[in-house]
Amino acid sequence: MRLVVLGGGPAGLEAARAAAPHANVTLVSATAPGAWRPLASQVWLAAVTTGMRDLLAIGARAARAAAAWQERCAATLAALDVELLTGHARLTGPGQIELEADDAGPARQLAADAVIVACGAHDVFPAGLAPDQERIIGAAELDALTALPASALVLGDGPSGFELCHIFSLLGTTVTWLVPDATPHSRLTPEVDGYLTRLLERQGVQLAPRANGAQLAADADGVTATTPEGASYQAEVAVLTTLRRSDPEALGLPAAQAATDVYGQTKWHGVYLVDDDLEPATASVAMAQARAAALHAVRRSSAPADTRHIVRSFMAQPQVAKLGRLATEGAHGSVTVALAEGAAAYVHDTPEGFLTLTWDQAGRVAGALAVAPAAADLLAPVALAMRLGMRLDELAASYAPHPSLGELVALAARKMER
Ligand SMILES: Cc1cc2nc3c(=O)[nH]c(=O)nc-3n(C[C@H](O)[C@H](O)[C@H](O)COP(=O)(O)OP(=O)(O)OC[C@H]3O[C@@H](n4cnc5c(N)ncnc54)[C@H](O)[C@@H]3O)c2cc1C
Repeated sequence: MRLVVLGGGPAGLEAARAAAPHANVTLVSATAPGAWRPLASQVWLAAVTTGMRDLLAIGARAARAAAAWQERCAATLAALDVELLTGHARLTGPGQIELEADDAGPARQLAADAVIVACGAHDVFPAGLAPDQERIIGAAELDALTALPASALVLGDGPSGFELCHIFSLLGTTVTWLVPDATPHSRLTPEVDGYLTRLLERQGVQLAPRANGAQLAADADGVTATTPEGASYQAEVAVLTTLRRSDPEALGLPAAQAATDVYGQTKWHGVYLVDDDLEPATASVAMAQARAAALHAVRRSSAPADTRHIVRSFMAQPQVAKLGRLATEGAHGSVTVALAEGAAAYVHDTPEGFLTLTWDQAGRVAGALAVAPAAADLLAPVALAMRLGMRLDELAASYAPHPSLGELVALAARKMER
């Protein structure tokens, strides 16, 4: 069986890795496999929140990380005997792919028994706004900055908006944050929006609420944002958050055929679509969809992707991580422990933050929310417990190393018992 995977992002790589032991797999990607744009922003966030302040050093670290990760991804694919082709691909029919050559030569035709389309989504900027790579840059293009701006406008909220304000305010840039509503929304966890906003305000971020529809004008001196109500804000640069939109039609998949079943299979038999059109977008969800689609395509599994147990996270120091359902989303009960209830907070001097566990009517883990250093890692075993259908009283009997952040999970479960 021949499987062609389109896209070398997290989802395409995952599909290729899952299918490779069971099929002849070709991965076609417009960019090097593993070239993942958010990696640079994540390196910036990690660097700045651990004290780095030198922009050039941070940029070099991001470039090294990207190169090393791409090298590792290429090696993994080679070890799995996955054929790698570079270029822009387009579907011309079920199992039919046209690959544009890089050198304007004739297009190459590929045939496959199954195709996984994992081409991600493109950035959509608010109406009238577009990066120019000088005064106006996109959230995933921080490497376009050659010098630290004294002032920056951050336009838009969502996870990226919070992270951008965190990065620039810690770097000492004066940040004005233009958000569409009265207050910023992460769209992941309304429970922590106020907490994070206050943290950013303490770091000097100035909020410009109800700035929906602001337009930008850039010149040699800087950039000015003007809202429809006439308020105006100036800074050296503007950084835009984005929405993401996938466009299967541009990849040759007719809109009428693009509806998918539980495996992501479209109406074109054997053509699977991994849709990254999520808000907030999460690579792990796309990877889970890609794996389920690939295993279904090679007839190894008929289990659809179960994304209920995926931890989603954003920010750093503190990181925010969320899993499953919280009390506001229908969980039966919830218990919260402060970081300060565990000894690790005193060792690492991080008393701020908390972990919430929720449960369903049968007392099984239903979700969790953490604001803590490495909150995503803290929730990883909780996700496993949830997948296994464990009850909180079973979690209560487990003991993590003392003192460690991991102790909080069982601490919360024991607190619930009391
Ligand atoms: C600023 C920002 C920050 C983010 N931060 C995070 C984060 O911290 N954690 C997280 O989980 N998610 C984050 N996301 C979301 C994340 O980027 C996506 O959810 C994730 O990349 C989806 O993976 P994917 O493989 O489906 O798509 P992509 O990563 O977009 O990969 C698409 C691949 O397809 C290739 N391709 C595109 N068109 C073609 C074509 N015609 N032919 C061949 N190849 C093609 C591309 O070259 C690329 O290799 C962030 C998004 C943004 C915009």
